[in-house]
Parts: sequence; C-alpha cells; structure tokens
Amino acid sequence: MGADAQQEPSASDTAPASARFPHAASWADVTDARVRAAFTRVDRRRFVPPSVRDQADRDEPLPIGEGQTASQPYVVALMLQALQLAPGDAVLEIGTGSGYQTALLCELVQGADAAAGATVYSIDRSPALSRQAAVALQNAGYAPHLAVGDGALGWAAYAPFQAIVVSAAALHAPRPLVWQLGAEGRMVIPLGPPHGDQELWLLRRSGGRVQWRSLGGVRFVPFVSPVLDDPRNWVDPPGSFI
Ligand code: SAH
Repeated sequence: MGADAQQEPSASDTAPASARFPHAASWADVTDARVRAAFTRVDRRRFVPPSVRDQADRDEPLPIGEGQTASQPYVVALMLQALQLAPGDAVLEIGTGSGYQTALLCELVQGADAAAGATVYSIDRSPALSRQAAVALQNAGYAPHLAVGDGALGWAAYAPFQAIVVSAAALHAPRPLVWQLGAEGRMVIPLGPPHGDQELWLLRRSGGRVQWRSLGGVRFVPFVSPVLDDPRNWVDPPGSFI
C-alpha cells in the first residue's frame, strides 16, 4: 500500500505551479482567491494511485482503491469555498480518502507559526486508505492529524471545529458532528441515497439553531455508519434544532 504513495511522481516538482491544476482558472463560480491559489500549490498526482496518475489533471473523480473515489476537484473547490476557512481554523474532514482534499485544507488553514496541517483533523473508516493518505501527505510536506474510525462520531477530543467537511453521502447529517461545530461553525455534507441523486448542503450553526443552504446536486460514495441506524442521531434539513 504505502509503496505506491512513496513513489514520487517524476514531473511534479519541476512542473510550474500554475500547471498543478489547470482547470481551476476556468471555474467561474469559484471566486475565492485563497481557494483557487490552494489548487495551484497541491499536486493531485501525489495523491492518486499510479494506475490513474496520468488522469490526475482531469477535472473528474478518480478511483483510489477500496471501491472509493477521489472527488472531482471542482466539487472539492465548491465545498472548500463554502467553508470560508481562515488561517488557524480547526477543521474536521470525514472521509480522508486519497488525502488530496486534506492537503488543500492544510493549505487553507495553515497559520503563520504552525506546521501545515496542525489544525486539520481527518478521519476515514478504511485503514488502508488512511495509511496511503498518511504517506502521500507526509511526502508532500503536510502534517494533519489522521484517524481511522467512524466519522459520524466526529473527533470530540479536538472539538469545537470552525468547519467540518464530509466527503461521503448519507441520508441524514450525523448529530454528533453538528454538536462538534463551534459558534457560527460551518459544515458541508452531501445528503441523499447511496449511488443516487444527492444534494450538497451547507449548514451553519447559530446558537441552538442550524441554518441550511443547498449548494446543488452531487454524487458521492456512500457514508457507511451504524451510528445513523438510530434516528436520534439524525439532523435533517431545513430549520432543524439540535
Ligand atoms: N475527499 C476524499 C473522498 C474519498 S471517498 C478524496 O477526494 O479522496 C469517501 C471516503 O469516505 C472513503 O475513503 C470512505 O472510506 C470514507 N467513509 C465512508 N463512510 C465513512 C465514515 N462513516 N467515517 C469515515 N470515513 C468514511
């Protein structure tokens, strides 16, 4: 597993930064300059398996093993933009997957005096993917906190988070995640049936209330969690209370 990620992509270090993700320039609705800049600093080739590395510059989802996919970069950009991240923010990612979005999060919340990733927390239920992502992230110079487990429970030890991003689709938002949002905390999560039409939601916690805004239709791999078997753990759009 790790051997794949340790293999350095040959062209990445010599390619001009602007070529790292050429499509970013054409994303009309990604207006946040910090988000666009982050895409020029992270090389997607470092995070996808060798078998699809020649496709890493396409604005498309890519298979990463274990039946999972790396999200389409454009969708990642919309999610990151909606989170309105600032340096020093504590951010929780559910679904580390390839680690590509994790690296972008590290870029967006990097504080002046801390290592890149010091306030980034990311959970995946797959030990193999988490291990692979850990190697790729380390090789690319990022040091986020990674864990293997059910992301529906969040990561209470490091809560509250200013932002939470979920990269797999469930029918309901997990209540523990909403609880772990700080005041005015933002969460982006796709909701909808497995492998069906899903909707990307932006939640903002305001006191005991959650405001919801739809960001449009998406397709993500399923969020797998027994925690969501219990309706008491559900938070649903819109206008719900926690
Ligand atoms: N952002 C990642 C997306 C990977 S696909 C990328 O672009 O590479 C979604 C990931 O969510 C998979 O790695 C899957 O293992 C993980 N996942 C699904 N359900 C989960 C859960 N309950 N807790 C944590 N991770 C989960």
